[in-house]
Amino acid sequence: MNMKCPICEVELTRVRYQGFPVFHCGQCHGYLVSRQRMESIRRSYVRPVEELKQETLEHHHDDTGRVLRCPGCRKRMRKQSLKPPASFNLDLCDACRFVWLDGGELARLQLARRIDPQGREAAELQRRYLEMSPKRRAQLEQNIAKLPESLPDGDDPGGGPWGADVWASALTALWPGLRLP
Ligand SMILES: [Zn+2]
Ligand SMILES: [Zn+2]
Repeated sequence: MNMKCPICEVELTRVRYQGFPVFHCGQCHGYLVSRQRMESIRRSYVRPVEELKQETLEHHHDDTGRVLRCPGCRKRMRKQSLKPPASFNLDLCDACRFVWLDGGELARLQLARRIDPQGREAAELQRRYLEMSPKRRAQLEQNIAKLPESLPDGDDPGGGPWGADVWASALTALWPGLRLP
């Protein structure tokens, strides 16, 4: 399937972005990504903040104001504005589940999560997790598996320094984006 950039009309190329297959426009640096992969990229902490900042600046492309057509099915894409600190518009195709991100926005999406306190905490947990020995990691996985699905209101989960909210962010942050060695 040949797909063209919704802005420049040049052909999109298949590339890997932080290990995830995506489509890229070499001219405007925009990315076409499945919604699921965008979420995995958003939650991954593989790159240092400085590098993400650099990508944001170097590849910055103004948010496209006009309605774009989906490179996959040519239907009109829907705009979705993201809350601060991301603060830009995504272009979505509900039929193909594709998302178009203008140049620099994929990096901005990750930066926004790093700035968010919960995201920061999750990043720290993920970093610790990756540094653990396989034995400790297996132990942690076992402990996480034993956690109840939801905690009763106002109940202290106990068992250590991490509160329920931290566990929740750890669970959501650790698993989807994580590629185990
Ligand atoms: Zn382009
Ligand atoms: Zn489409």
